[in-house]
Amino acid sequence: MLKHTNRKQETVRRVRTLFLSAESVAEIINRKGIAECIAGVAAYIEEDFLRWNDFDKCARVANHSDVGVIELMPVADARTYAFKYVNGHPANHRYNLPTVMAFGVLADVETGTPDLVSELTLTTAIRTAAMSAVAARALARPDSKTMALIGNGAQSEFQALAFHHLLGIETFHLFDIDANTTDKLVANLTRLGLKTRRFSDTRKAVKGCDIVTTVTADKTNATILTPDMIEPGMHINGVGGDCPGKTELHADVLRQGPVFCEFEPQSRIEGDMQQMPADFPVTELWQVLSGEKVGRSYADQVTIYDSVGFALEDYSALRYMRDVAAELKMTETISLIPTLANPKNLFGFIADHRDAQGPVLAAVALAA
Ligand code: NAD
Repeated sequence: MLKHTNRKQETVRRVRTLFLSAESVAEIINRKGIAECIAGVAAYIEEDFLRWNDFDKCARVANHSDVGVIELMPVADARTYAFKYVNGHPANHRYNLPTVMAFGVLADVETGTPDLVSELTLTTAIRTAAMSAVAARALARPDSKTMALIGNGAQSEFQALAFHHLLGIETFHLFDIDANTTDKLVANLTRLGLKTRRFSDTRKAVKGCDIVTTVTADKTNATILTPDMIEPGMHINGVGGDCPGKTELHADVLRQGPVFCEFEPQSRIEGDMQQMPADFPVTELWQVLSGEKVGRSYADQVTIYDSVGFALEDYSALRYMRDVAAELKMTETISLIPTLANPKNLFGFIADHRDAQGPVLAAVALAA
């Protein structure tokens, strides 16, 4: 009898899901160092983008409202499934909430078991900056030294750090319509030893820069960059135009050089490219990373990365955080899935977790 019980217990699958809270991810960043985290996520992104055809991909599912968007971003290969929940609400500051908030999951394709639930607000900022740097390493002039950062909000420090550490950018030209936000960015970057110069408008800020990053938030077809601001050899890293009706680049800016994107079916709907005809040429970045297509062809060429954020980047970032959590022995788990002695007796789990006179029994008695 005892033997039988033991054998039965052995077959019970106790599902525990690794949990990374915002505090846990902040701990990972503090212990590893932010530059190493950005470089690590960039390496995972490159590795996964080079396996592009292994992935089952789709454009994200977006639910729009007048004030914002909530999106689900799934992707899977044969072993691992990932999704991200993310919002974009540019007016959230009036509620003292960030514009972008996110969490996500890694799951085992073989059984569907969720292996990791993680915050993705901090991680999205890291992965977006890492992705921008991966794109710029392939597209910007290798001798680039200055970058304009237009939009100095939550993403901006991460962008600056990625370009400083992965591309050697030395000086950052800053502009935001909210001067207090630029104060915050100047203070944070100065503390990290980065050189900044602030400007009174976008035109002045971008003048003479090798790279221009636009990372503004406004649910409108904005024209942060107009064609007359673009100089030969510039690389444009357009990050904030990332959903229908929300763009940053004048259409003629996109005509100034080759345009690169993550996943074309999604970028044509969501990117600055939404303004362009359906046959407007665009190259997916994985093709440049794999050497199939050319990135920058000559020093004076203008290159444009029309970033919107693609599920595969979150897959890579979740993978990185899971691996680093294991390395740092961070093992907090949560119980998301009931542990069942008999997987067909889901109902029995309820009985196992209440007193004999609990509300379910009472309801059954009433029905009888
Ligand atoms: P945020 O709200 O913290 O900061 C945005 C900043 O843009 C604000 O400080 C605002 O004052 C400024 N701004 C708005 N209009 C401006 C203008 N015309 N000129 C200059 N500054 C202007 O938002 P965030 O979290 O930093 O995100 C910035 C943008 O990046 C958002 O649009 C977000 O949706 C987008 N985003 C894209 C990706 C991606 O993968 N492409 C990932 C994350 C966020």
